[in-house]
Amino acid sequence: MKLTIFGTGYVGLVTGACLAEVGHTVVCIDIDQRKIDKLKAGVIPIWEPGLQPIVERNVAEGRLRFTTDVEDAVKHAEVQFIAVGTPPDEDGSADLQYVLAVAESIARHMPSYRVIVNKSTVPVGTADKVQAKVEQILAERGEQIAFDVVSNPEFLKEGAAVGDFLKPDRIIIGTRSAKAQERMRELYEPFNRNHERTMFMDVKSAELTKYAANAMLATKISFMNELANMAEIVGADIEEVRKGIGADPRIGYHFIYPGCGYGGSCFPKDVQALGRTADQIGYEAPLLKAVEAVNNRQKTTLFAKLARHFGGADKLAGKTIAVWGLAFKPNTDDMREAPSRVLIEALWGAGAKVQAFDPVAMDETRRIYGDRPDLALCGNKYSALEGADALAICTEWQQFRAPDFEEMANLLKGKVIVDGRNLYSPNRLEEDGWQYFSVGRPARQ
Ligand code: NAD
Repeated sequence: MKLTIFGTGYVGLVTGACLAEVGHTVVCIDIDQRKIDKLKAGVIPIWEPGLQPIVERNVAEGRLRFTTDVEDAVKHAEVQFIAVGTPPDEDGSADLQYVLAVAESIARHMPSYRVIVNKSTVPVGTADKVQAKVEQILAERGEQIAFDVVSNPEFLKEGAAVGDFLKPDRIIIGTRSAKAQERMRELYEPFNRNHERTMFMDVKSAELTKYAANAMLATKISFMNELANMAEIVGADIEEVRKGIGADPRIGYHFIYPGCGYGGSCFPKDVQALGRTADQIGYEAPLLKAVEAVNNRQKTTLFAKLARHFGGADKLAGKTIAVWGLAFKPNTDDMREAPSRVLIEALWGAGAKVQAFDPVAMDETRRIYGDRPDLALCGNKYSALEGADALAICTEWQQFRAPDFEEMANLLKGKVIVDGRNLYSPNRLEEDGWQYFSVGRPARQ
């Protein structure tokens, strides 16, 4: 089939590349000329494992191309995907301006029937807004052209996006139109070979499913963080508690890791947006508000632990803190809403210097913060430790899991680790003379 994807960010580019990989002929369009120039030159603008070879192969074989030409993109295919950003508006609700701008572009140029597939994460009711926008533009054009609006939320995870897309747990399609269903079934046919993964439902349920999934996952994290903070106070070990509850199959082990809070481009904004939807419909949703509040507080926990260790936030002035991990999670360079940023900015606020290392997010850090005297971006995890008063760990990259503690002790000024991901054994580190502070496990000093 021929397909068009609007937006070449994490979702659009992965969607476009993977749909080309299974044999469709895909045009990816973006308004960001620099992004398209890079893609045309074979440079992938994001760091996503496995994406580069798929893009290269499909471009070479003529199934994938990039453009900024709207007319070309709309004319190319009957099925048009919207995969643009839906960032939080000032009040936290999803900003739909980019989605509606694409709807307008499609409506301006569509010569015949189109299936407009919304892959962006959008509040319930957005399909109706897209429908109204397209109808308005077609009326302005004086044309009567049939079209369908479909909700097809995306569940890929950054860092594992290609695998998630090619082997999805489920494909959610929201539409009641038989014609659109037929097109969507054909499009996703290659993903349903082993077993049927596609679920058809009404548009609103599909839109809500995406928020429900992210809010549920965020709730699990905030719940564990709440418990972790209590465990610290009462002298229990949250890691033991985690194993204890995970053994219950009704709870399970997935996604119940305590830490320094969730970040990224999805959980924070989606939980917030769902909360704003509740406000707009006049429904009180205290649980959603609490998930967000607990997470915002949890992002300050590493700074609080450092401040406590050094005898107060004011004592951090002039100190140097090494930070391992800047991305919001491993295997991505995405730093949107990353807990590392809350820590680093609080350290700067207190007059401390930061020596940071991340395996892939160094360029992104430079892009966000630029050159500043209180930030040293280091070439590897050990050089970040040189002369630092303490180490703080924000991201659980594999290469941080079993470091050479002797070398670390030689490089650091103080044998102090504040670990936001519970990577090490408190007993072992404390036996070796470290002062080790993790999340939800009592410090044994
Ligand atoms: P992104 O910011 O990485 O990319 C969005 C792209 O859309 C940008 O390149 C931007 O230039 C482009 N764009 C904006 N307006 C455009 C227009 N009129 N025409 C063409 N291109 C346009 O965003 P993302 O992370 O890919 O997320 C896209 C959507 O998917 C969001 O709603 C997000 O919530 C959702 N989502 C994201 C993830 C994820 O892990 N990143 C996972 C599932 C769902």
